[in-house]
Amino acid sequence: MLPREVLIEARSALLDWEGTGMSVLELPFTSPEFRALEDHARGDLRALLSLPDDYNVLFLQGGAYAHFALVPMNLMGRTGTADYVRTGHWSNRAINEAARYGRVNVAASGEREGYTRIPAPESWSLDPGAAYCHITTNETAEGLQFHWIPDTGKVPLVADLTSDFLARDLHISRFALVYASAQKNVAPAGLTIVIIRNDLLDRAMTITPTVFNYGLQARNGSRINTPPTWSIYIAGLVFAWLRKNGGLAAVEAANREKSATLYAAIAREKFYSCPVAEPDRSLVNVRFHLADRALESRFLREARERRLVNLDGHSVTGGIRASLYNAMPLAGVEALVEFMGDFARRHSRSIRFGRRGG
Ligand SMILES: *Cc1c(COP(=O)(O)O)cnc(C)c1O
Repeated sequence: MLPREVLIEARSALLDWEGTGMSVLELPFTSPEFRALEDHARGDLRALLSLPDDYNVLFLQGGAYAHFALVPMNLMGRTGTADYVRTGHWSNRAINEAARYGRVNVAASGEREGYTRIPAPESWSLDPGAAYCHITTNETAEGLQFHWIPDTGKVPLVADLTSDFLARDLHISRFALVYASAQKNVAPAGLTIVIIRNDLLDRAMTITPTVFNYGLQARNGSRINTPPTWSIYIAGLVFAWLRKNGGLAAVEAANREKSATLYAAIAREKFYSCPVAEPDRSLVNVRFHLADRALESRFLREARERRLVNLDGHSVTGGIRASLYNAMPLAGVEALVEFMGDFARRHSRSIRFGRRGG
């Protein structure tokens, strides 16, 4: 979801951007107007994150999936090996890509437990020779989220932040590099934000494409080739909207309230259950099942009839998933909770609970 205020402003800029008579879509990326727009967006993002001066903000393309390969290309060359923590669908894809460019040490894996919890830090086997250690802060498909930041000592910590970027007040300075596709929580698809600490800028393998060489892009203001201008424009509006509404502390408080409301509704009735261990449940992707899984498609159909949409679970996990990204209001969650109560009342009688083995 995008904030309605942002969509309204974008609609008018589509026809006439700031009285120039030009659409924002028609601004050349090399023009002073676009540079000013981009600098402003970058400044607002730095302010939101309280980003220290020794970090660069890159506005690139490719999506997080491309950066699964680009991160190792840019960072792995030094030692040829990297630590990865396997927590679900997206970290698995990151691992598969990284393994094409060097040796991946899977430092910990939640696979045996069906990715229902984040592996406890004392179980991790980190490689002191790793070029970096990679985590996925929020597993979008499984509804699993880190609520602590691992201590990897001298090994730089790298994170895919795609689905919880700007959803909570995270200390970016605990990481050496983070990256996020924009389309989950920030802007339309096309933009990938990479935030990288200066000392990691010049480690790229020679095979790294110029437009995806983090060091070269940092020195060239992410303007080696045409950046995704429309997506950057909307991202700028969203950053300003977040600042106006109290910044990341306020957005985190709102996301905590939304997710707590939904998890409480799931806990209230035996009819619903969340497979994820309580301490590792996501604030942004709430995943649950019905006691009778055969009723799930009916649940989704009836929800759609009430205009409660996009609740289908990820194709790898099935079930129900409510994504509570920043622009989703509490009222949206309350409407879902009301529907859940109503659905459970209408269908509970047909299910017998706790009767294992007849
Ligand atoms: C959606 C998602 C991706 C993939 O993003 P693309 O822009 O499609 O490449 C990667 N990681 C996480 C955590 C995601 O949620």
